[in-house]
Amino acid sequence: MGYFLADAFKDMEVYTPGEQPTDRDYIKLNANESSFPPSPAILKAINETVLDSMAHYSDPNCMELRKAIGEVYHFPPSQIFVGNGADEVLTIAFQSFYREGYKISFPEITYDFYRTYAKSFKLDYEMFPLNDDLTINVDDYLREPDRDVVLANPNNPTGIAISLADIEKILRVNPKRLVIVDEAYVDYGNESCLSLVDKYENLLVVQTFSKSRNVPGARIGFGIGAKSLISDMNNVKFCMTPFNMSTVAIKAGTAIVKSTDYFHKYINTIINIREKFEDELEALGFKVIRSTTNFTFFREKNVSAETMTAELKKRGILVRHFDHPQIRGYVRVTIGTEEEMNIVLAAIKEIEEEGELFKEEAV
Ligand SMILES: *Cc1c(COP(=O)(O)O)cnc(C)c1O
Repeated sequence: MGYFLADAFKDMEVYTPGEQPTDRDYIKLNANESSFPPSPAILKAINETVLDSMAHYSDPNCMELRKAIGEVYHFPPSQIFVGNGADEVLTIAFQSFYREGYKISFPEITYDFYRTYAKSFKLDYEMFPLNDDLTINVDDYLREPDRDVVLANPNNPTGIAISLADIEKILRVNPKRLVIVDEAYVDYGNESCLSLVDKYENLLVVQTFSKSRNVPGARIGFGIGAKSLISDMNNVKFCMTPFNMSTVAIKAGTAIVKSTDYFHKYINTIINIREKFEDELEALGFKVIRSTTNFTFFREKNVSAETMTAELKKRGILVRHFDHPQIRGYVRVTIGTEEEMNIVLAAIKEIEEEGELFKEEAV
């Protein structure tokens, strides 16, 4: 730790993204990215006029992108916040609504950003354990009416969603308690809470272009909520990073959100590949948590999740496993192309068959 770091950050915890090794080519299925290309509409949108316009600052209100998102999701721009990925939207929301000691809650097993943020900024955070079947225990979020809630729905890395009825229960506990629902994976066959936004002023829904829209490198995410929430977030943004989105991101994002057919085509492709992959894992005798996301979470049989991850890496395939005791036996694999998933399955089979060897080695 250097001399100049603010004391407040002494206990900070750094978020660890999925690794991006460069020693060889990998089939990269460890960060829930897409193996499919972004919409070609982006290339048309980034034309010479856009290049020339970069001689000037980007629009700090990101109005073109907010309008385009608004048309697709049926909200006025005044209810839409855009940022550099869902992570920045969450950051600005947390900056806007939380200070040291503010009470928030989220599951013990979820997207780790909530915890790293809460810890680094000294929020009073409570992490509720998941049930034995890895579902969220909704009752935990009903007990403390003044503790805000952050939920990934569907949850990451389990892939399990809770119902809109349950989210409504949580929202109704106290209209003065903010509930942030991170819908990074909502597009793969889940019901979105956007339908609740106009009914509950304490709901902020966050989505991203990084998963279902195939462009994590473009860094585009958005939040939708009541006008007052969004205007507060916009004002806080203007205090810190008024030109948060580049002209390229605004133009590309606008083209992407309008590529509706492209979007649906690849969602369906990924759902089909996922279902087939999960069927085949089950046929091999694995316990699979059937997901409604772009990843699969399954439990090891013969070898530990750690060994499976390491052995897959040796074979050029990156997946992820997690340290928490409740999910230590599980591996998370992002759904890639059909060809990639066939390679993964063959590798998994091979490693399982060799599994007995690994056991002997351990003895
Ligand atoms: C991937 C992911 C994000 C990050 O999205 P970006 O838009 O790339 O910042 C946020 N929340 C969850 C639950 C995720 O899995």
